[in-house]
Amino acid sequence: MTFKVADISLADFGRKEIELAENEMPGLMFLRKKYAATQPLAGSRIAGNMSMTIQTAVLIETLVALGAEVAWSSCNHLSTQDHAAAAIAAAGIPVFAWKNETEEEFIWCIEQTLTAFADGKPLNMILDDGSDLINMIQDRYPQYLSGIRGLTENTTCGAHHLYRMCREGKLKLPAINVNDSVTKSKFDNYYGCRESLVDGIKRATDVMLAGKVVVVAGYGEVGKGSAEALRAYGARVVVTEVDPINALQAAMQGYEVTTMEEVASRGNIFVTATGSRDIITGKHFVEMPEDAIICNNGAFDYEADVAWLKANATSVDNIKPQVDRYTMPSGRHILVLAEGRIANLGCATGHPSFVMSCSFSNHVLGQVALWTTPEKFPIGVHMLPKEIDEEVARAHLPHLNVKLTTLTETQSNYLGIPVNGPYKPPHYRY
Ligand code: SAH
Repeated sequence: MTFKVADISLADFGRKEIELAENEMPGLMFLRKKYAATQPLAGSRIAGNMSMTIQTAVLIETLVALGAEVAWSSCNHLSTQDHAAAAIAAAGIPVFAWKNETEEEFIWCIEQTLTAFADGKPLNMILDDGSDLINMIQDRYPQYLSGIRGLTENTTCGAHHLYRMCREGKLKLPAINVNDSVTKSKFDNYYGCRESLVDGIKRATDVMLAGKVVVVAGYGEVGKGSAEALRAYGARVVVTEVDPINALQAAMQGYEVTTMEEVASRGNIFVTATGSRDIITGKHFVEMPEDAIICNNGAFDYEADVAWLKANATSVDNIKPQVDRYTMPSGRHILVLAEGRIANLGCATGHPSFVMSCSFSNHVLGQVALWTTPEKFPIGVHMLPKEIDEEVARAHLPHLNVKLTTLTETQSNYLGIPVNGPYKPPHYRY
């Protein structure tokens, strides 16, 4: 079996949206042109575990255009766009993903991608979003490790996990942390969430945001983008943080900063953006006002303890797909979006194409680097160089009619910066 999707007849619709997305993903289209002749990914067999969206379809077809064989599964039970998956299947690319997978199906789908390549050959590259695929291979399919050149990781919690495995001596492959490229985390995490979070809340609930007390847990890039969008609607945003620097930033941006304990009883909407766990737990749920909305925009479904709600609510009413209303022993209700999984993807369609083009251009360049120059990547977690960050940004400027200024020779000499960059040192924070 080379694919399993919800409905292959959605392929035409998927293809039309993929074509629209291509026009909004100039970085990926630039890379297709740049590498069409040299086919740097020829011979690679990339297993990807990342939300199977329209944007990801353009990424997949870019990898194929560079010579890769690709097989795909989704990194989230609810994030697949079925028309995108159908279009990829119809294009002859192995894909195993549908919206609303059970836990067993989710695992099964990932497993299918390990050997879904021509002649039943196994993967030799990994593209991960949240480190599920690397975990599965290291823990359960170590026989494939020696054939794999490396992985690129998309997201903050996945990157944390890789650094931790590395510190503990458990990481078995070279990895590129794409998340911390500036053109990823300062764009996708921030500008992406600034548009997709409210999209998810609105599609799910149509709730009026103006005047509401909205608690944003975590003020990293995702929290910053989320808080800014909510405030633009007139919501009264309250931030919780563990990191004193982020807390100070939030305060100086004009947000109230307090603890979940203190704010639980007056928050109308709770957005988690920490990538951690147990941010909202039973003791918070019992304090919440009627019809408080729980919306995770961070990582997994234990950021807000939905298992506690399932165990302790007196009943649950499914309002519509991805919107559940729990009745508490007090008689009050709590609305949970996307079963506590990431709601911008579960209740809406994730970030828009343009910003995903930035993230995915980094993945493509990371895959090319790992595949073509493995000697430069010993086991460990690596970052892409500043030159690549700048190249990715540059590739997105013409689409927005940005006119870039060029350093003069005199300025270049004065500053000690090459005319063509890199313009900042590697540690520079934007
Ligand atoms: N494995 C976790 C990871 C959560 S982080 C999970 O999916 O539950 C969410 C990730 O989704 C981010 O890294 C972001 O880059 C990605 N994302 C957001 N919009 C997307 C889209 N339209 N297509 C594909 N991925 C998207």
